[in-house]
Amino acid sequence: MSRTILITGAGRGIGRALAEHYLDKGETVLATARDTGDLADLVERGAEAFELEVTDQNQIDRLAADLGDRPIDVLINNAGVIGGKGPQTLSNLNQDDWAETMRINVFAPFRITEALVGNITASAGKTVAIISSRMGSIDQNASSEKIVYRTSKAAVNQVAKALHNGLHSQGVKVVPLHPGWVATDMGGPGAAVTPEDSARGLAGVIDNLRQDQSGRFWDYQGQELPW
Ligand code: NDP
Repeated sequence: MSRTILITGAGRGIGRALAEHYLDKGETVLATARDTGDLADLVERGAEAFELEVTDQNQIDRLAADLGDRPIDVLINNAGVIGGKGPQTLSNLNQDDWAETMRINVFAPFRITEALVGNITASAGKTVAIISSRMGSIDQNASSEKIVYRTSKAAVNQVAKALHNGLHSQGVKVVPLHPGWVATDMGGPGAAVTPEDSARGLAGVIDNLRQDQSGRFWDYQGQELPW
């Protein structure tokens, strides 16, 4: 029987590649995007499309209502932004950009998971992945740049850990995952990893995740990363 995989930000980039990967595997894909027109070809291939601006609580609630008590085996909180403009150093931080980035990269994965927790616990897969970034690692940070993005990904790692702590007694696995440096609009054309290879790797980690690996930080090749 196919599993049900819900992916946010599936209109382009890594989210789209994940949706295509799981469609290729014959899974049931619930794809979300701000503009469902971006999902048209995924729908042609069998995906179900849902409108979701991840910062909009009304849209999150409507998604949860539309899904009802449908089990979700894997929730992938993928939608995200690099946030802020320019190098984001101490001298040129824009606090409005920073706040908006936190709403997208940090609050949204928490609120979406919270809204769908009944669907996740009702499934066999019981897995929540949050596409984070190695740039969220405090241990590996030797830079004073990209403060907006780094703080958002560090914070969402803490969200993942808190969700793990709160949900592991119900058998739910929660992991933040680094997708590699990926050639998307965000990663740029010079990035080392194709979206397809990133998606294949991420899915491999997600699909083989053991309970004792939940609440820890992994990359798309299954290497554990320091917080
Ligand atoms: P892209 O910029 O290619 O795609 C971002 C996706 O997120 C789009 O689908 C976009 O939708 C969606 N999105 C952004 N803001 C919102 C919002 N407010 N509501 C709903 N959807 C939104 O980025 P990637 O595919 O590269 O990134 C995906 C994830 O991977 C992100 O979380 C990113 O931080 C992470 N990541 C990426 C890396 C890389 O090298 N590419 C490296 C490390 C982490 P729309 O089309 O509507 O804008």
